[in-house]
Amino acid sequence: NTQIAPETLIDGNILVAKSFARCGVTHMFGVVGIPVTSLANRAVSLGIRFLAFHNEQSAGYAASAYGYLTGRPGLLLTVSGPGCVHGLAGLSNAMANAWPMVMISGSCDQKDAGRGDFQELDQIEAVKPFSKFSVKAKDIKDIPNCVVQVIDQAVSGRPGGCYLDLPSDVLHQTVTEPEAESLVTAAFNSSKSKSVANGSEVPTSEIEGAVELLRKAERPLIVFGKGAAYARAENELRKLVETTGIPFLPTPMGKGLLPDTHELAASAARSLAIGKCDVALVVGARLNWLLHFGEPPKWSKDVKFILVDICKDEIELRKPHLGLVGDAKKVLELTNKEIKDDPFCLAKTHPWVEAISKKAKENVSRMEAQLAKDVVPFNFLTPMRIIRDAILGVSSPAPIVVSEGANTMDVGRAVLIQTEPRSRLDAGTWGTMGVGLGYCIAAAVAEPDRLVVAVEGDSGFGFSAMEVETLVRYQLPVVVIVFNNGGVYGGDRRSPEEITGPLKGDPAPTSFVPSAAYHILIEAFGGKGYLVETPDELKSALAEAFSARKPTVINVVIDPYAGAESGRLQHKN
Ligand code: ADP
Repeated sequence: NTQIAPETLIDGNILVAKSFARCGVTHMFGVVGIPVTSLANRAVSLGIRFLAFHNEQSAGYAASAYGYLTGRPGLLLTVSGPGCVHGLAGLSNAMANAWPMVMISGSCDQKDAGRGDFQELDQIEAVKPFSKFSVKAKDIKDIPNCVVQVIDQAVSGRPGGCYLDLPSDVLHQTVTEPEAESLVTAAFNSSKSKSVANGSEVPTSEIEGAVELLRKAERPLIVFGKGAAYARAENELRKLVETTGIPFLPTPMGKGLLPDTHELAASAARSLAIGKCDVALVVGARLNWLLHFGEPPKWSKDVKFILVDICKDEIELRKPHLGLVGDAKKVLELTNKEIKDDPFCLAKTHPWVEAISKKAKENVSRMEAQLAKDVVPFNFLTPMRIIRDAILGVSSPAPIVVSEGANTMDVGRAVLIQTEPRSRLDAGTWGTMGVGLGYCIAAAVAEPDRLVVAVEGDSGFGFSAMEVETLVRYQLPVVVIVFNNGGVYGGDRRSPEEITGPLKGDPAPTSFVPSAAYHILIEAFGGKGYLVETPDELKSALAEAFSARKPTVINVVIDPYAGAESGRLQHKN
């Protein structure tokens, strides 16, 4: 009798879930619906935690940040057509930030494609500009291989976003349980990322060359970014900085790889450090807009760059004096080994080290004088100082800080102190606003021991404010602090003379409802909300919220005239 008992058959949904589980996936973010609801349920029954969002955009941002924090691809599950389109926000954000992520979308029945099927879209075509690799499972038997490929590709070389397309007919096909098992095992055994180390060995001569340049430099600087954080190169960086005595400058998300309070930190003397250094070792950071393209007038025209990057194309693009293609942790390990044979260390009295330290101290004390004032109604500085001190009061592990919004993020970057690696998530390479709530959820599930504190402008918060319900549903230890100045950059700040024309009754494009009660939003779902207008109210709300570790929104009323248009990027407007 060749008939197979139905209970020994498994469908595409189960096979997808099994394949991801075999690859070690433990979390999935997304929005369910046709045709992927069963896939989410199957994943859950195999122990994969499914974080169900309100919108794929926010879930996609969560998946991208999860990839960065864990070093394993973050998964985003979406429905077909519009779900896939919403998810592109997360996929593109992963690509821009070089973070590993896999978007999985259901798609219409293959036989109905091209005939106007429900939620039909050529999704493989749609994801092309936003992904490094995409694949469609055209038959149930393709599924395990496709899963292994997207996982491998997401983490190989420069990390990024990958896409897996799952037509609904494929999800409904079946295979027998033993066949499924052997397909999954064969695919898993062919996986590259589970065994092979990322990147090739850097030639010794290049390491020697880099060390030689640093040794001879008069004004050396070490710059590191979120690529070094992703590579978990903190110990090697610390060793390099401390054995050479070279000042260092982290990029915004590189902050915390070495503590911001380190005596060799040049952040508070940034202009001097980059403007005057003669050799800059740049590790896991692109010479893009964030680093002024490595060009004058911000940098000296004679600076010699040594770039360390996993991506050969990046080195070729920037044409540095010396480029080392490889994993940051490994390259720095080799660099430290090379130095050990003939150590050097700039003295604290070295003119360059002294100049940076002096400038940094001056700038810090100028900033502290501003911060020390209790300005009410709140400007940006007063509440930021109170938040900084409250965060520093949390014992290790330090909270993960999520920050977005123009003025809020700019001021926060300068004021908030990072002491641990990968403890800051912000708008990143793409300047993406609206990432905050997704990042909070990702951080809370990726690092359950840590408190998550979001410091957000009201505009950034508003992009995905409904995800506060998600915080409450999963009872995540997230405190969202909203800097509420009634709009983008500020409220409606037009003078009566400026308000003219037929639409003069309309609010300004930059404004929201003044005094919006964001704290009540979370209370609608059973979370905790605070409205604060004074230093004492803010201190007391933070103390309560940080010790409760429950989903909380603190609505901080900011003077609507306090923020600058476009924050610190006014020259780009
Ligand atoms: P930041 O925004 O902090 O300046 P970027 O995102 O611009 O950082 O740059 C990060 C760089 O790090 C990218 O060019 C990426 O290719 C690189 N990178 C990613 N992973 C690694 C790794 N393991 N080792 C070295 N470089 C890496």
